[in-house]
Amino acid sequence: MKAEKIWMDGKIVDWDKAKVHVCTHALHYGSGVFEGIRAYETDNGTVIFRLKEHVDRLFNSAKIFKMEIPYNKGQIVKAIKDIIKVNNLKSCYIRPLVYRGFNNLSLNPFDCPVNCAIAVWEWGAYLGEEGLVNGIKTRISSYARSYINSTSQKAKICANYVNSIFAKMEAIEAGVDEAILLDADGYVTEGSGENLFWVRNGIIYTTPANIVLEGITRDSVIKIAQDMGYQVKEKRAGRDELYISDEVFFAGTAAEVTPIREIDKYKIGEGKRGPVTENIQKVFFEITKGKEKKYLKWLE
Ligand code: PMP
Repeated sequence: MKAEKIWMDGKIVDWDKAKVHVCTHALHYGSGVFEGIRAYETDNGTVIFRLKEHVDRLFNSAKIFKMEIPYNKGQIVKAIKDIIKVNNLKSCYIRPLVYRGFNNLSLNPFDCPVNCAIAVWEWGAYLGEEGLVNGIKTRISSYARSYINSTSQKAKICANYVNSIFAKMEAIEAGVDEAILLDADGYVTEGSGENLFWVRNGIIYTTPANIVLEGITRDSVIKIAQDMGYQVKEKRAGRDELYISDEVFFAGTAAEVTPIREIDKYKIGEGKRGPVTENIQKVFFEITKGKEKKYLKWLE
């Protein structure tokens, strides 16, 4: 994971020189917000997938965490495009980060500056190329997803991801690819960095948006599925519902649309990518190649 340059507080700096002080507030307390965005290569050049929605979410995350981003949305959009061009990347992952810098290490963050960086790098299939085709193995995490009132579900706050990292470490050490977290009441929520969908009797279900991160891929999958004629419903469900579903899959910027073939050693459906997942995946990847006219509005 490396590119040549990083955008840092309005300047383009060498990757190896994009450094912060060890007393940076966010390094100690996770006091930052971030985004994860993808750019894809198409026959008409590089496109960024749903850039407006990602930038809007970044600003909403910052608003929730009471950080004033010292740039407007147009400047952030331009910075994202510039840093992709400077690095000569045809497709990439884009990571804008807005964080509390150094002034002091009080838990009162208001006197710390708000800094901003945008890194981009080439990042293939997050859960593996093979996983996209054959499905991945998962387990229900013993860690509950952070309670709705502990921080914020709507904001991509850096410190929230400690919860995800605990779940991910446990999954990796148990020999599977990814975790599925339940909420404190035992209802299914999402993966460590992906929203969750499941299919039963031809109906597609997903977790209500207010108890998970409001994923932009989640929103895209819902729209694609509905346009294909599928019924999509939000539902709170127990882990047992996943075990007996015909198909389960993840959706996220990094993971894109990844089938799940196993949960807690239960085989899901036929134990491979199911037909509904495959249909949605196919349209999703055609969209990212710029080949679905109807969805060109999602590409910038
Ligand atoms: N849930 C969590 C916890 C995530 O970190 C992500 C990745 N941003 C998602 C869901 C998926 O969101 P998106 O599709 O917007 O990437």
